[in-house]
Amino acid sequence: MRRGQFDSFKELLGRLAEESPFYKNKFQTSGININDIKSFDDIRHLPFTTKEELRDAYPLGLQAVPDEKVVRIHSSSGTTGKPVIIPYTENDVKDWAVMMARCFELAGVTPRDRVQITPGYGLWTAGIGFQAGVERVGAMAVPMGPGNTEKQLQMMVDLKTTVFVATSSYALLIAEEVAKRGIRSQIHLKKGVFGSERWGEKMRGRIKNELGIEIYDIYGLTEIYGPGISIDCGYHSGLHYWDDYLYFEVIDPVTGEPVKDGEYGELVITTLKKEGAPLLRYRTRDLTRIIPGECACGSSYPRHDIIMGRTDDMIKVKGVNIYPGQIDELLRDINGASSEYQVVINHINGKDVMTLRVEKDHNSSGNDIRERIVDQFKKKVGIHIEAEVIDIGELPRSEKKSKRVLDYRYQ
Ligand code: ZN
Repeated sequence: MRRGQFDSFKELLGRLAEESPFYKNKFQTSGININDIKSFDDIRHLPFTTKEELRDAYPLGLQAVPDEKVVRIHSSSGTTGKPVIIPYTENDVKDWAVMMARCFELAGVTPRDRVQITPGYGLWTAGIGFQAGVERVGAMAVPMGPGNTEKQLQMMVDLKTTVFVATSSYALLIAEEVAKRGIRSQIHLKKGVFGSERWGEKMRGRIKNELGIEIYDIYGLTEIYGPGISIDCGYHSGLHYWDDYLYFEVIDPVTGEPVKDGEYGELVITTLKKEGAPLLRYRTRDLTRIIPGECACGSSYPRHDIIMGRTDDMIKVKGVNIYPGQIDELLRDINGASSEYQVVINHINGKDVMTLRVEKDHNSSGNDIRERIVDQFKKKVGIHIEAEVIDIGELPRSEKKSKRVLDYRYQ
């Protein structure tokens, strides 16, 4: 354990009990006395914080400092219901920039780099967080924001951008555009920093090959600063996270109990230093695992695995839990199948019917791929599915997070 980590934690508990109306109330209703917490083992006696509670605290119920200390707010995209608003103090903004700068440094970004930032600016945390990190490293930020592919490519060529920051689906769209226009030789990219979405090795491979870059996976969420709380190093064997700022736990999403070391479960995060809206045991709904042992790069920061999916993406078909990450993994091993897929689930004559629609490379035989998918799915996941193989480019591409599961069972 990192030195000073438990002291930061005790200090956080003190602040929550004294200054946060949200947690004061929570501790009272669950009969918590923070003086009973003697080590990190005791953390399991403390209550979780959920996204629903954050929504219910709308607009500023999470704020744990006086108004004069708040310098900014950000908000989660909130597809349903009320958004979550997170207030930041000057220290929070600085700490986030420090973490983001560490991410870029771990990815080998230097002051000589030019970094094209395509995630959104504004209420959403992504763009401005990347920018602060780039500036802290001393590189040149090219603050594009999302969309306008034409302009993105023009700037990429004319400014000789060396680092591209994007969601993985947008990076794929750009990679395909570069290939289509035959402008690969005019592109100076060396690295891509992609995140915010679960994505398979094949998709990664295609972007890597088509743009000729090394790819780094970055993770984060608005409730906890924003992107930049972890990234993979040059060994690409898990994402290092900043345990001087954050305490990570992995739990069984159904029982809430901690999983064994190295097992997959739901990531739960406690912010050790956050002031504006500190969070205790926040359930991220992201599925991952802690990677035991040290990384070959020698960094002392611990690692978690790539995000396998979300607890709410978990689909139950014929009584079996299926994670999108499992489908990625399965398709990775099937020659000729691309990384793009769509899941369609229907309920026909009293039975669940799952159809996996997969794109294939131009030269491959659709029949062979279909048979292998059905066969492998039965072997690895344990249920019979239908497979439909279509040509590459037929499934929708999006500048936003792709929607891959269409569940028509309960409509
Ligand atoms: Zn490493």
